Amino acid sequence: MLDGALLRGRQMAAQAGSFRRIWRLIWEAAPRWTVAWASILFLLGLAPLATVALTKHLVDSLVSASRAGVSWESGKPALLAGVLIAAVAIASELLQGLLDWVRTAQSELIQDHISSLVHKQSVSVDLAFYESPEYFDCLYRARDDAATRPAALLDNLGGMLQNAVTLVGLAALVLRYGPVLALAMIFSMLPALFVVVRYNWLNHDWWHGTTSKRRWIQYYEQKLTGPSFAAELRLLGLGARFQDSWRFLRHGLRGEKLKLVRRQNTARICAALISLSVSAVALGWMSWRTLGGNGTLGDIILFYQALMGSQSLMRAMTGNLGQVYSNSLFLSSLFEFLDLKPTVTDAPVTVPAPAQVTRSIRFENVTFRYPGGSRTALRNFNLTIPSGKIVAIVGPNGAGKSTLLKLLARFYDPVEGRIMIDNIELSRIPLDELRQMISVLFQMPVTYDASAAENIAVGDLRRTHDRETLKAAAVSAGAHEVISRLPQGYDTPLGKAFDQGNELSAGEWQRVAMARAFLRRAPVILLDEPTSFMDSWAEAEWFESLRQLAAGRTAAVITHRFTIAMRADLIHVMRDGAVVESGTHHELLSAEGFYAESWKQQMEAVAPELQYTGV
Ligand code: ATP
Repeated sequence: MLDGALLRGRQMAAQAGSFRRIWRLIWEAAPRWTVAWASILFLLGLAPLATVALTKHLVDSLVSASRAGVSWESGKPALLAGVLIAAVAIASELLQGLLDWVRTAQSELIQDHISSLVHKQSVSVDLAFYESPEYFDCLYRARDDAATRPAALLDNLGGMLQNAVTLVGLAALVLRYGPVLALAMIFSMLPALFVVVRYNWLNHDWWHGTTSKRRWIQYYEQKLTGPSFAAELRLLGLGARFQDSWRFLRHGLRGEKLKLVRRQNTARICAALISLSVSAVALGWMSWRTLGGNGTLGDIILFYQALMGSQSLMRAMTGNLGQVYSNSLFLSSLFEFLDLKPTVTDAPVTVPAPAQVTRSIRFENVTFRYPGGSRTALRNFNLTIPSGKIVAIVGPNGAGKSTLLKLLARFYDPVEGRIMIDNIELSRIPLDELRQMISVLFQMPVTYDASAAENIAVGDLRRTHDRETLKAAAVSAGAHEVISRLPQGYDTPLGKAFDQGNELSAGEWQRVAMARAFLRRAPVILLDEPTSFMDSWAEAEWFESLRQLAAGRTAAVITHRFTIAMRADLIHVMRDGAVVESGTHHELLSAEGFYAESWKQQMEAVAPELQYTGV
């Protein structure tokens, strides 16, 4: 019990902090619009007060006019009050229109500001964050919030400000009939306030605790409706199964949510009954007082309007307060995400990246385990990539080959040991400079919905308009022919997500992605399964281009194809996170070890006549 209270206390303190931060965000994004917004709301908050006061004046003027006999003179005050009431109504309408415009501009600016903070953070957090479910939960909540919560929060805050102005004004008007009535107004609000705060906590806890379920729901939705799954879904008949899983999760969530809403409504009705009882007593007291000759008809009307107005204002305000509270709770997830700190960062003292690798890239006793991973991917790992050479890295699935590239690009840091470029430790080179030194082709080619030229140019944006260089990279990667066959050549939009896009085959995409890697004139080239989707006929020709391109640079090619590996200057054979053999193709064949065995098996499978020739 005490623990729960303490936890809530801490949550509230954190809440106050995140509330201040939200306010700062709003202010940073749209300071002038926020001033305009608050001023209009203040004026709108005053309007009902003017109407209530003018209505009392109108009623009292009408009563005196009827007593004095109808004439222009006796009717003038009532007429004036009527005109002023109409003027207030028209001004309120105009202000409301202006407020809609200001609020739209303000919330668009805030939304964009928050989205850009989320985008900035998404590209700067460690790659490891993308591999942890907690991170995805956090990102999911942050992205979810960024789109809708700020605007909702502004509406709630605006509603609160406007209603608070009116409420304080009404309380001041009521105060002239005695402080007890003003206190009664405040007392009647407390039960509703309690219900709102308690159920917002419960709602938020439920929402937070179900993030993973909601992400699963989104996952099934993507599988059921996403274009990349459509073919396999049909072929394997997975639609019904995914629908069942989706339905099961939705059923659970729906049930939980409805239960929460039912409980909340019961509590709300009880709170409303208490507040109605207090109001009835207060109104009874006021009527008794007026009947005793201590007030006018205008007073009763003013009091009635103030009481009813304050009741609905309180309802609206507790609703607003609840929403403010719940939206700020939800936005705390955004801050949780924005506060994530990358761990792969620049060292306190850095050394400029060398222009070229002059000796070698070396892994020295490197041990590495993926964050949250259950097995050690590399253990006391040693490997050398000599400068100016093309090194092939071969080995069975899961041996740790791709992990080498990720460590070299410093997507992760080793747990133990070090990686050296010549005599500089990798972690001492500024991250930006290190990544500029490296050109990587990832195992799964990355595709962009952009023109063929732009798809290549993203490898080095400075060359976007240098068509000849783009073409040369495409030629080296074997992508030029593919692109030349497209309807608008290099200007053809690729991908199917947008209008008029042309889809390529997996092998063709791989060539385009390789052209992108080749365009980047980096001293180190890392290729992960560069020909996995390519036809094997073009391999020899492709390797020849790579050799020309890699001249004077250092390259590592991860491959399962021995017909590629055999052409490299040096082959490292990896198994279970360690290098088990190294040498040239002929040396390894003569050693008759793991490489020779695997080579024999692959050759038997694809070209039995080549099996012992070593070609
Ligand atoms: P393949 O030939 O199949 O591409 P590989 O030799 O490139 O395999 P790696 O991708 O380097 O193998 O993986 C080495 C080990 O690290 C594997 O056991 C794998 O399960 C694990 N691993 C790879 N990526 C991750 C990750 N993101 N999180 C946790 N473990 C991972």
